Amino acid sequence: MTDNARSHTSPTPPVTLLGAGAMGSALARAWLAAGHPVTVWNRTPARAEALAAEGAAVAASAAEAVAAGRLVVVCLLDDASVGEALADADLTGRDLVDLTTGTPAQGRARAAWATERGARFLDAGIMAVPPMIGKPDSGAYVFYSGSPELFEEHRATLAVPAGARYVGADPGFAALHDVALLSAMSGMFAGVLHAFALIRREDIAPTDFAPLLVSWLTAMAQLAHQTAEQLESGDYGKDVVSNLAMQAAGNVTLLRTAEEQGVSAELLTPYTELMDRWLAAGHGDEDTAGMVELLTGEAS
Ligand code: NDP
Repeated sequence: MTDNARSHTSPTPPVTLLGAGAMGSALARAWLAAGHPVTVWNRTPARAEALAAEGAAVAASAAEAVAAGRLVVVCLLDDASVGEALADADLTGRDLVDLTTGTPAQGRARAAWATERGARFLDAGIMAVPPMIGKPDSGAYVFYSGSPELFEEHRATLAVPAGARYVGADPGFAALHDVALLSAMSGMFAGVLHAFALIRREDIAPTDFAPLLVSWLTAMAQLAHQTAEQLESGDYGKDVVSNLAMQAAGNVTLLRTAEEQGVSAELLTPYTELMDRWLAAGHGDEDTAGMVELLTGEAS
């Protein structure tokens, strides 16, 4: 049976995997555990050899691995390493799925690059860490974007290591969704660090404080739905929950408390200064949704 025929007919089609780092190895183990034949290549052979003991076939080169099967999954450090690793591989007729973290522009450029070489292409963004991979209840999932045909054909295989969420034919969209969520997380962790700094010199145990922090952030995160509705309607004054004038007044208390506690406000001030600018522009009776316009340059 040819590779292509097997991809179409087998419930556990073969997977070629380039990259046996922490994430690549976790992916390989999930496919092996589900009964998929896995051919793996890694620049440093020892990491691929470790997977051979668990049933993977080890290819001597990336080109050899690519030749082994139709579905080729790449999980390397960055986009440059993908170009380097695949430089000599014949991608004709291959379905290339790139789980390497990159930017939207890199995803689009890599899609054009793969198409020129005769491959169908999906870019991806992994919303998980390696221990969550292959565990259906972990909440792990992967954003995919690019060829809808490729996604439909390999959906079941792609869903083995983590949930598979297709976010559009634009190959840049998986990275955009991935990075947007990571960026939101970055702001959240900045706030978490500041909160722990505020209590640090007091008789408050961080482990007692953490549950309060988590439940507060979980409750407040729901307000993102309200922000989304205001952004979609363009009416930033619709169903206002906490108007900007009140929030800006509250910021004075946040900044004064940081000073009282001897804590740097450097993680807070970029956000409070943006709020002050939007307030000065006359948006005191709105929520904060419109501040997106300051970030995009639609307003100054
Ligand atoms: P590791 O550092 O564990 O592995 C990096 C992999 O890239 C190794 O296989 C390494 O090979 C390979 N590599 C690096 N440079 C090159 C190159 N120039 N040519 C060929 N291969 C190269 O990283 P992870 O496995 O953790 O991450 C892989 C991808 O998964 C990254 O894009 C990362 O952002 C993403 N990811 C990782 C998460 C995590 O928590 N680990 C979470 C979500 C996404 P070698 O062994 O020879 O060094």
